[in-house]
Amino acid sequence: MYSVALPSSVHEQAIEHLLRQDGQEDLCFALWHPSQGRDRITALIHSLILPLEGDRDVHGNVSFMPSYFERALSEAINAGAGLAFMHSHPASGWQDMSLDDIHAEQRLAAAVKSATELPLVGLTIGTDEAWSARFWTKTAPRTYERQWCDSVRVVGSKFAITLHPNLAKKSVFRPELERTILAWGKEAQSQLANLTVGIVGAGSVGSIVAEALARMGIGHIRLLDFDSVEKVNLDRLLFATRRDALLKKSKVEVIAKAIRQTATAGQFTVEPLEWSIVEESGFQVALDCDVLFSCVDRPLARSVLNFIAYAHLIPVVDGGIMVRVNERTQKLKHADWRTHIAIPDRPCLECLEQYDPGQVSSERDGFLDDPAYIAGLPHAHWAKRNENVFAFSLSVASFEVLQFLSLIVAPSGINNPRAQMYHFITAGLDKNDLDACKSRCLYPGYTARGDHAGISVTSHHLAAEKEREKRQAYHRTLEYHLHRWILLKLRG
Ligand SMILES: [Zn+2]
Ligand SMILES: [Zn+2]
Repeated sequence: MYSVALPSSVHEQAIEHLLRQDGQEDLCFALWHPSQGRDRITALIHSLILPLEGDRDVHGNVSFMPSYFERALSEAINAGAGLAFMHSHPASGWQDMSLDDIHAEQRLAAAVKSATELPLVGLTIGTDEAWSARFWTKTAPRTYERQWCDSVRVVGSKFAITLHPNLAKKSVFRPELERTILAWGKEAQSQLANLTVGIVGAGSVGSIVAEALARMGIGHIRLLDFDSVEKVNLDRLLFATRRDALLKKSKVEVIAKAIRQTATAGQFTVEPLEWSIVEESGFQVALDCDVLFSCVDRPLARSVLNFIAYAHLIPVVDGGIMVRVNERTQKLKHADWRTHIAIPDRPCLECLEQYDPGQVSSERDGFLDDPAYIAGLPHAHWAKRNENVFAFSLSVASFEVLQFLSLIVAPSGINNPRAQMYHFITAGLDKNDLDACKSRCLYPGYTARGDHAGISVTSHHLAAEKEREKRQAYHRTLEYHLHRWILLKLRG
């Protein structure tokens, strides 16, 4: 699968240049970095290389000079990036290619591939700012074939997805969705039906988010969590039963089974994946998603998601609960929860102080899984307590889902309700007035760098590996006992 994503700042600059006042077509080159997921490669458009005087000839049907292409190619080589070619059409919606378009891109494909080792990416923009895109991949010596992208995503202060017409047409709405479609129309529903949403962390918040997304007709859901259902989860893990805890089922398996029954999308898929986002396999399946929900409570996982939001242009809807208990009376003192979306042009999770970078390194070094280290922490430390109530998770999940809907549906053109914090005790709702990342923050610098960002955020995850082994060993023992029991019964 192929896709293209652009930060909205680059999108705005492209519109300014390509959608001309005089209605003539125009063109330019751009640099891109790959974002390789398990099933999808995305070209992340990093920056434009605008034409200079004499670089092109605008005459209704625009053409460029070889020197412009050579300059663009050498910039791509210097930046270690891929090269994209963009042009505009005087029509709206997803654009097909004329024979001239095909010949022009085919002629560039070989030179681009041999110079950058990455395929040429072609993009066309229509008058309604809708993008269409394709990769030119080498299929045999000197043979380059066009691979249409499934979608082109603009990610940032503007969030928009243009779908390949074959995909958009496939949205068949089931009668179950009648009232939902009455609320926001078929176009929004078609966007939701074609989204791939990853839910990272299948605990109390993640399970409720999963149910909400399945009911609203989201087409593809990926659930990521390595944990098993335990008795202590039963007070707040939606769908989990005593039997699931007894059988030590994985949380993702329990939730996936339940939402297959409640999903309303015409074509629904859910994948239960028993990984952590910190592990390479978990990271890769996250890169195939259009939006991610961060329902984790650990700093390391949050920092990885924060990185994905900027470097790989995948919005991360995040939320967290803080509960304080009076040490002396053991009664509830504070319960606050916050929700927000990490996405270019908005502050990141680190700037919103949603996790402490110091704790990320402690966790990476394994301290947070070391009982001796945990024992030495202050009594009220989050790693020690983890107090929570179903109603709190329900509210966080609701705020997260509303943040998500605001981004996708953008009612009245408003898609940013800002970072929100709800206080249970006073029933007050605050908005954070931080507009963007703080000046020393590194994350905006990773924007659209994808696999070329130069840092590796995945590693082995001991707790995840141990939990999966424990679960498998337990299931083997259960099976053994079951077989013995059957044999004994048969013998009478
Ligand atoms: Zn064209
Ligand atoms: Zn930041």
